[in-house]
Amino acid sequence: MAEARVRPSSVPDGLITVEDHLERILRALGPLEAYDQPVVESLGLPLHENLIAPIDLPRFDNSAMDGYAVRAEDVADASASSPVTLPVVGEIHAGGAKPFAISAGTAVKIMTGAPVPRGADAVVPYEQTNRGSASVEIRTAVQAGANVRTTGSDVQAGDLVLSAGTVLGPREIGLLASLGSGRVRARPRPRVVVLSTGNELRDPGTHLEYDSIYDGNSYMLAASVRAAGAIAYRVGAVADDARVLRDALAEQLVRADLVVTSGGVSEGDKDIVKQTLTELGTVQFDKVAMQPGKPQGFGTLFEEETPIITLPGNPVSAYVSFEVFVLPAIRRMMGRTPYRRPMVHAVLASDIQSKPGFRQYVRGFFEVTHRGAKVTPIQGHESHRMGALAKANALIVVGEDETALNMGDTVRTLVLDRPF
Ligand code: AMP
Ligand code: MG
Repeated sequence: MAEARVRPSSVPDGLITVEDHLERILRALGPLEAYDQPVVESLGLPLHENLIAPIDLPRFDNSAMDGYAVRAEDVADASASSPVTLPVVGEIHAGGAKPFAISAGTAVKIMTGAPVPRGADAVVPYEQTNRGSASVEIRTAVQAGANVRTTGSDVQAGDLVLSAGTVLGPREIGLLASLGSGRVRARPRPRVVVLSTGNELRDPGTHLEYDSIYDGNSYMLAASVRAAGAIAYRVGAVADDARVLRDALAEQLVRADLVVTSGGVSEGDKDIVKQTLTELGTVQFDKVAMQPGKPQGFGTLFEEETPIITLPGNPVSAYVSFEVFVLPAIRRMMGRTPYRRPMVHAVLASDIQSKPGFRQYVRGFFEVTHRGAKVTPIQGHESHRMGALAKANALIVVGEDETALNMGDTVRTLVLDRPF
């Protein structure tokens, strides 16, 4: 599930590794139970069953052109200089057709998508005729089968068209709907309650006192949840008050498959999340050997045993922690693999120093140039720097045992926002 589980020797005593913390989360969170979802809601969900086509596509022989349905043998001698004239015995439109048959030596006007009448085996396009109504001049010979889309020539009833695990995108959803599936068996999107904590936090668009700030995290995390394919319920900021936090959590649990909080898990006097959650369930708080993002917690809440992941409050720490721990957790609940964003190699554009013993996630700008993939570290590494975070599109991963990466080295990056 996780990568190499060997504990790097440089990790300080008393800290757990990123791999250990992630492993603990992934072990505790099982996939949600699959059920029939409306096909329109299934974008990005992995199909939970093999899909066998219940019908043929095309479902009936139909015309690929606007023109005249004929028997090919009746027009075998037709040419522009010596057309064959046939009586037109009817007109068939897509969606307005009754079962119909023609006899030898006749033609029927037919529109694209309309069923080809019995007896006819080809369609002559308008362009090769005089577009006659009572009778038509056919100016070309056609092969049997010309301009006819035959039953089952695309998909046959009984074919395996999508196998279990296929992630449903627009094309698969189009196919499902074309085969008549109004619902599709898939694991549901996890419902993730996002809650930020801090007396200083105010909602964007409201008044700021001199010592308050806007609550960026709950928006950023809710957006991250949605980008991961899950459903986000963003609860605004909750005060640093044990009772308020407990009530907010109790109220949210009914709609949560997972709760994600930010803030209140450091050593400060007002860091009440730790204290409160320890009383409410099994949440365990650890120091993880990573930078940013050291204080992390995971466990379950109340008798419902709703899983909760607590992230640090500094915005960059919260973001990186989401990428590293919450995104894989959500994907596991949805049954999407791989759980973790794949590492992409890129050539480093400037040096990075790193503290030994910690896995560092350095914000970077990733681009593919004519010389290959390149990543440039972004200045301003402190974890409050939202402005610098928004300039990044990748995280450069510096291993626990690495203390420096040099310009020109091939390094591992997580390319953000990229579907996988
Ligand atoms: P905490 O982990 O609660 O001690 O918060 C650490 C730092 O992150 C403090 O400077 C907080 O003001 C800031 N912070 C906490 N939560 C948020 C949030 N939701 N949005 C923006 N900044 C936050
Ligand atoms: Mg706080």
